[in-house]
Amino acid sequence: MDERFRSIVDSLKDTQDISKEDLAYLLECDGSDNEYLFEAARGVAETHFHKEIYLRGLIEFSNYCRNNCYYCGIRGGNLKAERYRLSEEEILSCCEIGEKIGFKTFVLQSGEDPYYTDELITDLIKKIKTAHPDCAVTLSIGEKSHESYQKFFDAGADRYLLRHETANEEHYSKLHPKSMSGAERKKCLFDLKKIGYQVGCGIMVGTPCQTVENIYEDIVFMKELQPHMIGIGPFIAHKDTPFKDEPDGSVDRTLRLLAILRLIFPKVLLPATTALGTADAMGREKGILAGANVMMPNLSPSNVRKKYLLYDGKICTGEEAAECNACLRGRVERIGFHVADSRGDHPDFIKQ
Ligand code: SF4
Repeated sequence: MDERFRSIVDSLKDTQDISKEDLAYLLECDGSDNEYLFEAARGVAETHFHKEIYLRGLIEFSNYCRNNCYYCGIRGGNLKAERYRLSEEEILSCCEIGEKIGFKTFVLQSGEDPYYTDELITDLIKKIKTAHPDCAVTLSIGEKSHESYQKFFDAGADRYLLRHETANEEHYSKLHPKSMSGAERKKCLFDLKKIGYQVGCGIMVGTPCQTVENIYEDIVFMKELQPHMIGIGPFIAHKDTPFKDEPDGSVDRTLRLLAILRLIFPKVLLPATTALGTADAMGREKGILAGANVMMPNLSPSNVRKKYLLYDGKICTGEEAAECNACLRGRVERIGFHVADSRGDHPDFIKQ
């Protein structure tokens, strides 16, 4: 085995830190020693999560979006996207089905859709929390004002997911139109943290123009933010976006970065993403074996799933919620893990 690879992994495990040069070495190697890295990450995950995998029921309630991120299939400028919005009744029915099949977290995700005013969102959160008091509500609805975030939190929302996409402003400007800024995205994340949400940030691996230096800056930013969750998956091109001809990100590199993040942030919630499962049929299992501990099965009604396509080829768009649930539980068990029946909060959050 490559001695430098081994010594970087050992040091990373001991110090929860990595230099830019060592990060480049781990990310750019040929992958032949991956298992040493994955085993170390798995061990750390097991120390904190005991082979438990947390499931989050994902409800994609609107694919309208006012933004135009260059990588995204539901960007406002994509006139080919067939738009939909779920009614409040439909969303509540997803939650009801979700709790019946064992989910303790609902992730409400949408594009940045102005139709859903703060009042509509707060009403919805209150209704979900009243009907399912033991369940956590996670929002993933984009950039909002501090005031709106506070209203949602006061209404009972527990967590918020907002990928920062890249911590480097220049790289950010290559992935987004001028109307968007990385600084604003970071501000939103710090606002959310300050309000008291469990916060998730994240990136895609292999976005156009991404360098190892950018990924290093992402790690520096994450250390400053100290998120409760980090979502990473490979970039996958969507045919109706400006990045349609860009190559997809590497699964192998994504898995190595997942393992590195597990070693730097031992207790962080780390999903094995649907994008990883799209890029590789066994991607989610491989993610768990590289230190991930969260999966997000789809709870959206099956008639709208094919319309929430952020990237091409997305899996799990034909099944009903119960089928997705059974499939994922089976996948988890086949690799020697099991699904937790708790809400799956961040370990330190429970202690607060
Ligand atoms: S990534 Fe999010 S904010 Fe950007 S266009 Fe897609 S749905 Fe909208």
